[in-house]
Amino acid sequence: MDAGSVVEARFHDNRPFLQTSEHHTSTAEHLGTHGFRAPECEGYNQWSQDPRTDLYSAAKVLWAMVTNDPGFTREEVVFNQLSLVFWLKDAPMTWHFQRIFEKSIRHSLSDRYRNADEAIKDALFVREAIVGRFPPLEMLATEICPICGTGTLGQFSDKNDEALCEQFLENLSLRKRQGALVCSYCYHVSIRNQALLEKRLERRKQMR
Ligand SMILES: [Zn+2]
Repeated sequence: MDAGSVVEARFHDNRPFLQTSEHHTSTAEHLGTHGFRAPECEGYNQWSQDPRTDLYSAAKVLWAMVTNDPGFTREEVVFNQLSLVFWLKDAPMTWHFQRIFEKSIRHSLSDRYRNADEAIKDALFVREAIVGRFPPLEMLATEICPICGTGTLGQFSDKNDEALCEQFLENLSLRKRQGALVCSYCYHVSIRNQALLEKRLERRKQMR
């Protein structure tokens, strides 16, 4: 999936995409397709539309393309029951798209990408992550080794691992040594702040 070209796609009833700064006065009129339109396109609201309105819709199109499911209304569901982490459980590479949704399918305009350049830059990062098969954050938070994908991460035990990694451990402070995890299969050693990682993932679920 070329996320970058999805972001550049055209949408919204043939109106120019991401190029206009024109503002519409919203009365009873609804603009755009139900399930894809941003909150500022609903009738009777005080917000103006700008390129961020299109980025919102483009991201919902992206969600629909990736899942092959119809679009949806509102925003918070994409961080919960419609999160790709749940919706496409068996396709973890798609979970990287959540990074794009975090900055586009948001109720408040100020929580979204400011413009198309910002969105495309992020889309390119996401594409690299998918093509390079880098593990998404949710996978890093598990006990599966992000390097070999086979072993499980665990604390150093005094028995086998410590002997095998003796050289490495000598150069680590006791504190780091206690927080270090070693893979049971490839012996890759990693140190991460599990509490902060989980906090970040938790914050993602609160988005709206
Ligand atoms: Zn491993």
